[in-house]
Amino acid sequence: MKWYSQEASTILKELDTSRIHGLTGTQSQERLEQYGPNELAKEEREPAWKMLLKSFKEPLIVILLIAIGLALASAAYDFFVSGDQGHAMASVYEATAIILIVIINSGLTFHQTRSAQKSLDAISEMRQHHMKVLRDNNWTSVSANHLVPGDIVSVKSGDFIEGDLRWLKTSELQINESHLTGESDAIQKTIEVVDDDTELGDRTNMGYSGSMVVNGNGIGVVVATGMNTELGKISGLMQDVDDQKTPIEKSVHSLSKKLMIIAAVIIAITIGYDLVKQLIQVGSISMDSIGGISATAIAIAVASIPDAMPVVLSIVLTIGAKMMASQKGLVKSLSSVETLGSATYIASDKTGTLTKNEMAVTRFLANGKVYNVEGNGYTPIGDFIRDDGEAADSKDYQRFLEVAVLNNEAEIKPDNKQNWRPFGNPTDVSLVVLAAKEKIKRDELLEDKGNRDIDIIRIFPFDSTRKMMTVVIKENGKYYSLTKGAPDIIKPLAKFAMVDGEAIGINQVADDIETIMLEFANDALRTISITQREITREQALNASSTDLERDLTFLGLVGIIDPPREEVKASVRKLTEASVNVVMITGDHAMTAKAIAKQLGIIKSNDARVITGREIEEMTDAQLFDEVLDTRVYARVTPEHKQRIIKQLQEHEQVVGMTGDGINDAPALKAADIGIAMGINGTEVTKDAADLILLDDKFTTIEKSVESGRTIFANILNFMRHELTTNVAEVLSLLLGVFLITSSIGNVTEVTPTLTALMVLWVNMISDSLPSFALGYDEAESDVMKQKPRDAKQSVLANGMLRRVLFRGGVMGGMVFLAFVWAAMQGFTVAQSQTIAFLTLVFGQLWHVYDARSVKTLFDRNPFSNSRLTLAVGFAATSSILVTLSPFFNNVMGTAPLSMTMYISIIVISAIPTFVISGIKKLIWNRNQSNSAQTLQLDSE
Ligand code: ADP
Ligand code: MG
Repeated sequence: MKWYSQEASTILKELDTSRIHGLTGTQSQERLEQYGPNELAKEEREPAWKMLLKSFKEPLIVILLIAIGLALASAAYDFFVSGDQGHAMASVYEATAIILIVIINSGLTFHQTRSAQKSLDAISEMRQHHMKVLRDNNWTSVSANHLVPGDIVSVKSGDFIEGDLRWLKTSELQINESHLTGESDAIQKTIEVVDDDTELGDRTNMGYSGSMVVNGNGIGVVVATGMNTELGKISGLMQDVDDQKTPIEKSVHSLSKKLMIIAAVIIAITIGYDLVKQLIQVGSISMDSIGGISATAIAIAVASIPDAMPVVLSIVLTIGAKMMASQKGLVKSLSSVETLGSATYIASDKTGTLTKNEMAVTRFLANGKVYNVEGNGYTPIGDFIRDDGEAADSKDYQRFLEVAVLNNEAEIKPDNKQNWRPFGNPTDVSLVVLAAKEKIKRDELLEDKGNRDIDIIRIFPFDSTRKMMTVVIKENGKYYSLTKGAPDIIKPLAKFAMVDGEAIGINQVADDIETIMLEFANDALRTISITQREITREQALNASSTDLERDLTFLGLVGIIDPPREEVKASVRKLTEASVNVVMITGDHAMTAKAIAKQLGIIKSNDARVITGREIEEMTDAQLFDEVLDTRVYARVTPEHKQRIIKQLQEHEQVVGMTGDGINDAPALKAADIGIAMGINGTEVTKDAADLILLDDKFTTIEKSVESGRTIFANILNFMRHELTTNVAEVLSLLLGVFLITSSIGNVTEVTPTLTALMVLWVNMISDSLPSFALGYDEAESDVMKQKPRDAKQSVLANGMLRRVLFRGGVMGGMVFLAFVWAAMQGFTVAQSQTIAFLTLVFGQLWHVYDARSVKTLFDRNPFSNSRLTLAVGFAATSSILVTLSPFFNNVMGTAPLSMTMYISIIVISAIPTFVISGIKKLIWNRNQSNSAQTLQLDSE
């Protein structure tokens, strides 16, 4: 049906809906079933089995397949050629065991990945757009995917249009539909019927799904949803949540690649060395020694690949996203989790984020007199007391208050407990409350009581670039344009001022007004001038806002208190301690901004530099570049200025988080490293552009998210350190065996590997990977918020990581090798010697994991604070001992039971390296601490 060429009434009838009541609950339910949800078809989620198969593409799996192949080949050789049945069966068992371990590990990984995916889904569900819909006589907020044809919806600037609409009422409604038409200018919408053959771009009475409301507001009826919309017809499948690799995932990926190359070289050298040695010593190469050599090579290959890392990494990042969401910070992608941890500047809007947004007029100037306003909250009760003690005179402020409420769309209503509740723009609410204290109400003015007849003709809503709002009215046959806005913007536009009922030239009083305005601002009050102007009918109907907003007559000025949020002060302090710079950005006057910044601890003294929007405009990029690092307050800025500030901070290589709420903020949010949108008061457009949504609109949530980001990153480094240490220890203990054992020791020959391939596999996939996962759940180390932000471009191996890994891994590997040699010298069997080496490695790692949890040492954290870790370590320890006792595993892994004393000795001895190294480090650490404490003392003396 061509909705655009039909009368609205026809359409409403056709869709069986009502402009007054909307659809009923039952109707909408039925239609939802009939038409399906209002969303574009989604790409099929990968089925579980496919995800599982994908994990088999990893290089480790290839190596394991080779190992399985070799084991089966050797089984076949034994079976058919040498006839050694027992040996053949052992090889078959070995192949089976590899497969079993791989399956257990994949199962675990798969389970983790699935639950991670579920939390990501839950997070993206929370990001659903909402629309204001009329149902059963009530305007309610409905999730966009529940819209159905026939729904009556209301949109305003900053909303997305969901579903195709036919407009029923529009007011200055402008819409950007460039995604369909390519036309980047906003289109003015009306309700007039257009011709049957009108092109999509010219159908001015329609709104199309996916367009953005950039100005004004409107009411429309939904005519098509989901794949039936114009967007649905042209769009392919919707993109799922973006699963791009985060920077750290990329760098781990490239690290893994490098490690693999190193491993390949080591293996080649080892095999070459072994073969040459055989040839020189024996003169030929026996089948037996090939078996030994390939067993060692496979063990080294398995040992050198940090296979758990990529998976654990993405899961740990997801844990981070979940953690942030539970603290009311919603991230769009996993990269944001990481970026938040490295933020160096957080630039925040003042109003509503740093302040409570519970605005109240406490002082005003009207008719040349300053009044103080009494009363509490939104309750419209309170007297006006003149500053100079004279009696109040309603003639001073009658007209001023009328204009304040007529140029206003906010309301207050009592709830069932008779508490007054605000509706609409908080600034405007404060004016409504002010006027209501004098019994002046918008509804009553518009009711045409007595001999007054007032009608609203047009509304130009407030926007943060103009910093003004204008309403055109018709009053008793005359036309007026009512303008209110920032006093310094109004000042050059005003021609007259109303004093004692007469309009006099503004110049006579401009200085006095300015002085009072500054006085208000100094007291941290937000200021607004209120003006009016008589205009012609022609102007009333057609003039643009620029034409109306001049030659104004000044009626008065209000000072609005907007108390800072109490908890913000602590957050500012925490961020400052964490070397994250907090910057306030506001549309308010410089003085107001400064007063509040000081109350919040963003600036320390009144001499702090404040840059205003006008100054930014006059500065070159180079000048701004010189100032951005040290400036903490920007006042009277427009959203365009935000982008320049971000750009210059980024030129300084800073990682910038920036908040925003209005539609004009969207480009700045995109430009910022972390765009932050308000979940409650933000527009859908800004939420869409943001990387982080504050579900509670609170600044403190940013601080918590930064902390979570840092915690997660610290956890990632911890588990990487742990994983890599294991790999180094394994490879080293094997290599030492190859190169240092040149003749038989006891039962051990020169081709016996220190550890069997299956032992290495066990350590990597079971005893080591579970505690690694658990590290991801660690809470913040006490001082994550006392350190400097991480340098985002730095390699994960920087800051001593590589040194620590090589050193710890080296000591551990050496220890494992020594245990092996010792056992051989004592005359233990091969299996027992390898088992001793195996358990030394397992327990060495299980002790080490407690050290890896901390950037400092294991003595600096409560070892039992992470219950998952306790469980994982307990499980790893028990199961690793069990595989040495069970005959089945003895058979397949080459383990052997040991004596009770032996087990206890291994557990105790394997603790030595970790405790000795950590102990020494702790001592050095303490000495340094007391040294630096001394220097501090000296400094302060
Ligand atoms: P912020 O969001 O940083 O508080 P705004 O852009 O909302 O800044 O406000 C900037 C200035 O515009 C305010 O200081 C005030 O003078 C004026 N102003 C704010 N809201 C309104 C409004 N609803 N009507 C008229 N003027 C307003
Ligand atoms: Mg604002």
